Amino acid sequence: MKKVEVECEQCGGQVQVPKDVIAGEIVGCKDCGSEYEVVIGAQGTIELKSAEQVGEDWGE
Ligand SMILES: [Zn+2]
Repeated sequence: MKKVEVECEQCGGQVQVPKDVIAGEIVGCKDCGSEYEVVIGAQGTIELKSAEQVGEDWGE
């Protein structure tokens, strides 16, 4: 499976994201542990949005 690397905003490391990732999926940086929500741009670009800013209730 192909992966793309997106720069981690927190530590500048590379966050690996599967190329067929679904928007809204949560990926984590293996270097610093930050979690990001995947956002797919209009051009199919993969972007990461800090998951901590998302006030979503994931339930327990
Ligand atoms: Zn990081």
